[in-house]
Amino acid sequence: MASMMQPQIILLKEGTDTSQGKAQLLSNINAVTAVGDVVRTTLGPRGMDKLIHDDKGSVTISNDGATIMKLLDIVHPAAKILVDIAKSQDSEARICLGLLILSLLSSDGTTTVVLLAAEFLKEAKPFVEDGVHSQNLIRSYRTASTLAIEKVKELAVSIEGKSVEEKKGLLAKCAATTLSSKLIGGEKEFFATMVVDAVMAIGDDDRLNLIGIKKVPGGNMRDSFLVDGVAFKKTFSYAGFEQQPKKFLNPKILLLNIELELKSEKENAEIRLSDPSQYQSIVDAEWNIIYDKLDKCVESGAKVVLSRLAIGDLATQYFADRDIFCAGRVAEGDLNRVAAAAGGTVQTSVNNIIPEVLGTCEIFEEKQVGGERFNIFSGCPSGRTATIVLRGGADQFIEEAERSLHDAIMIVRRAVKNSTVVPGGGAIDMEISKYLRQHSRTIAGKSQLFINSYAKALEVIPRQLCDNAGFDATDVLNKLRQKHAMQSGEGASYGVDINTGGIADSFASFVWEPAVVKINAINAATEAACLILSVDETVKNPKSESAQGDAAAGAMGRGRGGGRGRGMRRR
Ligand code: ADP
Ligand code: MG
Repeated sequence: MASMMQPQIILLKEGTDTSQGKAQLLSNINAVTAVGDVVRTTLGPRGMDKLIHDDKGSVTISNDGATIMKLLDIVHPAAKILVDIAKSQDSEARICLGLLILSLLSSDGTTTVVLLAAEFLKEAKPFVEDGVHSQNLIRSYRTASTLAIEKVKELAVSIEGKSVEEKKGLLAKCAATTLSSKLIGGEKEFFATMVVDAVMAIGDDDRLNLIGIKKVPGGNMRDSFLVDGVAFKKTFSYAGFEQQPKKFLNPKILLLNIELELKSEKENAEIRLSDPSQYQSIVDAEWNIIYDKLDKCVESGAKVVLSRLAIGDLATQYFADRDIFCAGRVAEGDLNRVAAAAGGTVQTSVNNIIPEVLGTCEIFEEKQVGGERFNIFSGCPSGRTATIVLRGGADQFIEEAERSLHDAIMIVRRAVKNSTVVPGGGAIDMEISKYLRQHSRTIAGKSQLFINSYAKALEVIPRQLCDNAGFDATDVLNKLRQKHAMQSGEGASYGVDINTGGIADSFASFVWEPAVVKINAINAATEAACLILSVDETVKNPKSESAQGDAAAGAMGRGRGGGRGRGMRRR
């Protein structure tokens, strides 16, 4: 399934005398198009995965546009400039770039953004070659983008006001649409339901880290499960641990940030004594202190004691003798999630354990999951946390699966927040394309051509979905154009049917995307394309050039381009 590819795109620098004007612009367009060509084949459910390997021999399998973009080493002056402005204080440029980077790093719609941006530029290229001023193109593209986004909003369907069950079903469709393009696509329904339950569990809480994903390599994907609470791998334990109970119903949970360990149990402990008779008194004092701490823990009524720091041999046995479960060296994130879910507060002293600081849950259990033991807290009162325990395959597989689930989580959260959806499978793209074509006929002058090109570029989405599935794109696109041209408007939600190679009503087949994802994609792709179009000069690092030369270059830019100067700033 995975296709091999070069780990790097190296675009050789153009000759020095071509680093300005049209030649520079065309070179930049070519660079972006090349990036588009790399990610193009990953789009959609039949997209190919990319096997990316770096110099250090580490291999990542991914279908995720963002991951690919991050791993690929893109070497081009235009790309470098983008990074430079990211750091600059130029707010206009930063907004553009922010959008671009956001779209590249955000978990979904990435491939779409890159493809669209590349296609917008590809369509612009002949105009640039003909000497059209890029500002004219930019203006038309922005108009087209605004119109397109208005249209998406108009076509979006709300999922508000439905019953919880209905809503869950609809959200699961959204999740399934994202997952279908991933390695775990074969089990998309299974995981979609899990993702929706996880997102619903945390409610409106914005802290994404309340959803944990724990990977346990091995087993079957279907062995993955959702805990409506917290789960983490069993921590290191001492001998007495085996005698502790491993399951409680409604236990009180004590959360500590305290060491429950004798000094002498520590590896590097060293006590220097002048008089050997002092030894016993020191040992006694230490034992008294720890027994005092342990007694206080027991008196609190807690049945489960967790600490971020070590819980030693003595404490483990002490708790075992009193039917208490303990775990030391619990990772901070896990401890905090238990606190959030179970309703407890982490204590830094045992001196004042009031009932309010203890948490609870319906079931605490230590359970075997594959080759690992897990501490699982389910039925937590706040309900505001969820953990997906992910099983299956090799490490690389499970890592990609985690990324895919993360994508799906993000998309469901966005759908929950915005609660409007549009038909996917290229349907929405075809519809906007048609709308813009129609609209362009009402415009006089060159702008008509530019908006028409923008409209044409949008067709790249359905075309690529077909190509990647091995279908005849020309044929499918013709059918889609006919459907979308229907006066009645009943063809408006028709998109590519990935299963048959024909066309289908994407709404009816539940290939849905949150409207906001589409809107962001169109906006980011347009801004990225316009940013590239607005650069027709590579400004060299001023430090490496004489101040005079730099000033001269600036003056030249202004003279030639009518105030273009540092092209980046101009919008
Ligand atoms: P992105 O990184 O842009 O999200 P994906 O590889 O996830 O890219 O592909 C998303 C595209 O695939 C969207 O246009 C979506 O509508 C389409 N898609 C997803 N599932 C299906 C499906 N079952 N049938 C047709 N198109 C689909
Ligand atoms: Mg996607």
